[in-house]
Amino acid sequence: MERIQRPRGTYDVTPQEAPRWQALEARIRDVAARFGFGELRTPVIEARELFQRTVGETTDIVQKEMYVLTPPGSDRQLVLRPEGTAAAVRAYLENGLHNGPQPVKLFYIQPMFRHERPQAGRYRQHVQFGVEIFGAGEATADAEIIALAVTLFAELGLEGLEVHLNSIGCPVCRPRYRQALLEYYRPRAAELCSDCRARLETNPLRLLDCKVPADQPHKAGAPRTVDYLCDACRDHFDQLQAALAALGIAYRLDSGLVRGLDYYTRTVFEIKYGGLGAQDTVCGGGRYDGLIELLGGPPTPGVGFGMGLERLLLTLEALGRVPGAARPLHAFVAVTGQVPRARVLALVQDLRRAGLAVDMDHVGRSLKAQLRAAARLPVRYAVILGDEEWAAGQATVRHLESGAQRRVALAELAAALREEAGSPAGEGGADGDGHGSGHGKGHGQGRAEVEAE
Ligand SMILES: [Zn+2]
Ligand SMILES: [Zn+2]
Repeated sequence: MERIQRPRGTYDVTPQEAPRWQALEARIRDVAARFGFGELRTPVIEARELFQRTVGETTDIVQKEMYVLTPPGSDRQLVLRPEGTAAAVRAYLENGLHNGPQPVKLFYIQPMFRHERPQAGRYRQHVQFGVEIFGAGEATADAEIIALAVTLFAELGLEGLEVHLNSIGCPVCRPRYRQALLEYYRPRAAELCSDCRARLETNPLRLLDCKVPADQPHKAGAPRTVDYLCDACRDHFDQLQAALAALGIAYRLDSGLVRGLDYYTRTVFEIKYGGLGAQDTVCGGGRYDGLIELLGGPPTPGVGFGMGLERLLLTLEALGRVPGAARPLHAFVAVTGQVPRARVLALVQDLRRAGLAVDMDHVGRSLKAQLRAAARLPVRYAVILGDEEWAAGQATVRHLESGAQRRVALAELAAALREEAGSPAGEGGADGDGHGSGHGKGHGQGRAEVEAE
């Protein structure tokens, strides 16, 4: 039979790779909690209009990257969520969070879907960590989320990051800037790449996003948003810089930074990592003070960022700083002879209820094969149950690394494994066998060897 493969641009997380994801997500949840953010989970599918209205009709995301679904018998189109902010705003309004105490600080770790050309480190389904603060227009809110990202990177061992910062103004001052930009670029139109010629008509701010080498000299001389800010935007930008200085966060003003989405106002920022040669953006975000109103809510300021976790893990891997390791088993139970497997499973179940991580053989392999399999697992002890042990109500407990082993009464197995493994696992899971049975130094006593059939 021909095997069916996963869709292009997607990936599986195997049990070998899962610990790094778990460790990264645990670190993120810990940092987010310390900054006072609560977790938001939204559906993978959303109404198509949500992103048409917010991300912008002229963006690549809306024009060609969304997965559009037409449910059977419905003429209302849904999309697989391409980005997190619009969905977070929708949830904020739909759940009445805007009626409660403000600001509301949310984070999410969720998959996003974009039908892009697959390339290294870019996926059509990718996991994003995002934060949003709704209801705080003050520059200290912008500074707080930048501090959150910087703190997370530092705790992951990622150093040498650069915070790039710009202000792209507001609806009051941006038309004037837009005009200046058009006046600068129009005479140069013939020399621009085809994308830029189109942007000139649809979304001139995005001319500054162009990565085409031939267009770079034009960009270098383009008018800068910061020279066109109104007083209120200027003030906000100054306060943000003062807050970052107070936090000891270094930043670089970057007039070419505009971010791709239509809804940004004032602050835009990216955090780049240059330690691996090419500079990589590991986090990007900004302020979007008009977005909540655009989705039918009351005028409410907002600021947030998004961070792709695949790229972050790749960077950590390249640095040898992969977080997390598989949680080892306390014991693998190897069964041989006529020992009733169902009773062994019940014994294993008791150990698990006592808080221990335990696995056993199901497929009736030889003892040798079972021990070989155990040796390949992250596991400390093999618990061997043969006819003789079973009849005596005992097990042979073998330390797999040293080979030292001893006999332990089944009733004391949980205590022995917990005590010898030196693991705090199973707090509160005691099943009456307690501590202090004096097994700790008993390696090597009892039967010296188990015959491997
Ligand atoms: Zn302004
Ligand atoms: Zn261009």
